[in-house]
Amino acid sequence: MRERRCNDCGGPVAPRHRFCEACAFQRFRRRRGPSSTWAQFQAEREASKQRGTTTERGYGARHRRERARWKRIVDAGEAFCARCHKPIVPGTKWHLDHGPDRNTYLGPSHASCNVAAANATRPRSVVAKPTPNPPAPVDDNGRVIRVPHADGGFTTPTGRWKWSMDW
Ligand SMILES: [Zn+2]
Ligand SMILES: [Zn+2]
Repeated sequence: MRERRCNDCGGPVAPRHRFCEACAFQRFRRRRGPSSTWAQFQAEREASKQRGTTTERGYGARHRRERARWKRIVDAGEAFCARCHKPIVPGTKWHLDHGPDRNTYLGPSHASCNVAAANATRPRSVVAKPTPNPPAPVDDNGRVIRVPHADGGFTTPTGRWKWSMDW
């Protein structure tokens, strides 16, 4: 594993921390005022560590479950990328994609699309993302209607991934 460095001073840093203790404490004091103590700082750090591990555990289990569910759909060649809406070819790399709040799942997406989207939100481009997709059109049996596109292939313009519920 790559050794991490403090974001402030570049010094060595504990695993899963962005700042060394000294820099973290300085940040803490800047936030909480100059009278805040080392003990308060430690207590807060401990609390956030606890929070981190519980949500990670819950997140991990839920994510695995959700991914297993989607894997069946992807393997059947029935899945469409949540980002570009093109089919996901079974056997290719895909991710279970998150909404911006990281609490909801958008559905599967091409690994490349997912990474591109993550990179796009990183700097200042929170502003103009493509407009939200309309809900997927479904036929009388509730199956998603595939819309052929001029560039070859076909898409399902799924917005909030309504059809994931039907499957
Ligand atoms: Zn530091
Ligand atoms: Zn895609």
